[in-house]
Amino acid sequence: MLNTLRRIVQEVNAAPDLEVALDVMVHRVKEAMKTQVTSVYLLDYSQNRYILMATKGLRQEAVGKASLGFSEGLVGQVGLREEPINSEKAASHPKFRFLEETGEEEFEAFLGVPIIHHRKVLGVLVVQHREARAFSQSDEAFLVTVSAQLSGVIAHAEATGVIKGLGFHETSAVAKFTGVAGASGIGIGTGLLYYPATDLTLVPDKKAKNIAKELEVLNDALEAARNDIKSIAKAATDSLGPEESALFDVYIRMLDDNAIGGEIVEKVKGGQWAQGALREVISAHVRGFEMMEDPYLRERAADVKDLGLRVLTKLQEHDHAPIEYPEFTILVADELTTSVILEVPREKLVGVVTVQGSTNSHMAIVARGMGIPTVVGAVGLPIAQLQGRELVVDGYRGEVISNPSAELRGHYESIIEEEKELAVDLEGIVNKESVMPDGHEVTLWVNTGLMADVVLSLNRGAAGVGLYRTEIPFMTQDRFPSEEEQASIYRQQLAAFAPSPVTMRTLDIGGDKSLSYFPIVEENPFLGWRGIRVTLDHPEIFMVQVRAMLKASEGLDNLRIMLPMVSTVFEAEEAMHLIHRAYLEVLEEGFHVVMPPVGVMIEVPSAVYQAREFAQRVDFLSVGSNDLTQYLLAVDRNNPRVAGLYHSYHPAVLQALKIVVDQAALENTPVSICGEMAGDPGLALVLIAMGYNTLSMSASSLLKVKWAIRKVPFSRAKVLLEDVMSMDNAEVIRSYLDFAMAKQGLGGFVRPGNRN
Ligand code: PEP
Ligand code: MG
Repeated sequence: MLNTLRRIVQEVNAAPDLEVALDVMVHRVKEAMKTQVTSVYLLDYSQNRYILMATKGLRQEAVGKASLGFSEGLVGQVGLREEPINSEKAASHPKFRFLEETGEEEFEAFLGVPIIHHRKVLGVLVVQHREARAFSQSDEAFLVTVSAQLSGVIAHAEATGVIKGLGFHETSAVAKFTGVAGASGIGIGTGLLYYPATDLTLVPDKKAKNIAKELEVLNDALEAARNDIKSIAKAATDSLGPEESALFDVYIRMLDDNAIGGEIVEKVKGGQWAQGALREVISAHVRGFEMMEDPYLRERAADVKDLGLRVLTKLQEHDHAPIEYPEFTILVADELTTSVILEVPREKLVGVVTVQGSTNSHMAIVARGMGIPTVVGAVGLPIAQLQGRELVVDGYRGEVISNPSAELRGHYESIIEEEKELAVDLEGIVNKESVMPDGHEVTLWVNTGLMADVVLSLNRGAAGVGLYRTEIPFMTQDRFPSEEEQASIYRQQLAAFAPSPVTMRTLDIGGDKSLSYFPIVEENPFLGWRGIRVTLDHPEIFMVQVRAMLKASEGLDNLRIMLPMVSTVFEAEEAMHLIHRAYLEVLEEGFHVVMPPVGVMIEVPSAVYQAREFAQRVDFLSVGSNDLTQYLLAVDRNNPRVAGLYHSYHPAVLQALKIVVDQAALENTPVSICGEMAGDPGLALVLIAMGYNTLSMSASSLLKVKWAIRKVPFSRAKVLLEDVMSMDNAEVIRSYLDFAMAKQGLGGFVRPGNRN
């Protein structure tokens, strides 16, 4: 069964669109379960009806037409109850509703299971039998398993808005995808797909501009690929047996007009560009081979893929035209490197969306630095179909909307307008003090990683750097940078902000932050070898880095060193010991440097409960609330599936933050916060009231927070704090703070996530 299941899932996953996917699904399930009918009904939320979308066994004419109301019939009941119904005589079930046009009267037994994705009922998968006998428990279990596995495919196909035919959705349907917020802001524009030249499956759909020309290009490419294969075959004649040589002939013939070549030509005649047509045809053949029972024939799938890649290379050689960037470009990709982002003309780039990646991937950090709304980790995003499509990137919520309706578009446009107005207002406070109306002063620092951040930070009037993520310059290299190289990079940061302080965090790799030249592969990376754990195990890396920092600070004396992911006091002591050693070495080498303050990040629960012990040993504490939230709530900060559970507003997080600030105060140790929550104006006020007088955030948030500080008296912030600390629910806290901000005339700062 497991094998059958795997094959069905594979085949359905590989289908080019929902229509094919559903067809494959009903066909294969019927075969596997030896039933007389297998059908899929999908719930069209716009009509609140279940529509028969595919069937094997019922009348084909009914597909796309037969439908049932939301709670109608057994299908409706399965959806409503969100559990299977297994009835040996469907007609005698009180909820039975006969769909005449399907011809289902012959079938007595009914088994329906819901298709659910992320708690949402998408439809019902049904099998039926002629005889009045209940389906077995194992039938039921099989169908439930198939449905659970296939719900993702259906959800994604539906979400693309490109479901073809069947009248279920128009191609222009609005579709929404959830990912993870990478950089805040809203971008509205046209999807431009970036895909590596070596992956045929990522080639997008595009309309051929000139069909005759496209055919010419295609024929040239096919011819060139055939010639290549001929030369390879010729060169290898001596070493090949007759069987292998014959195989080359087969490949050459496959590219002919009466084989795969012809099929591609037909697609191009239909309007698809050559690369897209190639992808469609090759994928279908690969799928066909992969489904073969015979292992030898299954292996041939790899050959067809190879053929496809050869032709693709030829097509791309023709395709010298420079990329035409739409006026408002939304860069869409499976995975992006920073350099690809930097290639797009800055004035045209309004958004970035990737399937891979996380909030902390280098690309996301760069996008944040550049102020480009970004969504990462949009798993299942059908990128090939987003080329040329109108998209909205909601970098606040981590959502991507394709084909937005006029209303939705208007909603997002108004947010962009508000942001623009706000930006103008905010310019006016760049050089103003960050003081509350009743005189309470707050220090606002920035988080940096790139030199680009420095310029932005200085323009925004940052009073220092609360977190310089040193792993970022490490990520742009192909080996560990030398001590000298590091010193020169660090010097730039220190010099740019001097005499203001710059807090340099020692290398924080592991978890989701990896270096290509120092891969860490672990089952559970967030609970594994991360941050200080790595560098203490590699004192040679740690010492070089600290020495570079110290040397870079000569004459500037504005360095602070901060240790990430510390979970035991012993780690802090060991690191301090190494830092002192590095300091003595640097002095011995003749540098005139002062010993910098050393602090630890509080980002794991154990550090919260030992905040006082840490405060006794180090010069400062800084809360890394991004990780602290993740570890306190046991929610992976980069996993879109549980993104709805990740709340820095959570009462448990707020209580932990209170413990830290109170414990640090007992030792008179300064404490700041450098997680993303410090950049949320409402939360920033709560943190200030708690006792955090130094907040460090991304440069793009700084002025918003300063605005809130200058508007709201400390006494009022205290009341907000008291109120939220009495609440037991993150959502309520969030809404309450947003409401409170709006009442203060700070509605413009409400996160768009709450503007429904
Ligand atoms: C944090 O965890 O809050 C933090 C500031 O560090 P990073 O986001 O780089 O892990
Ligand atoms: Mg962290």
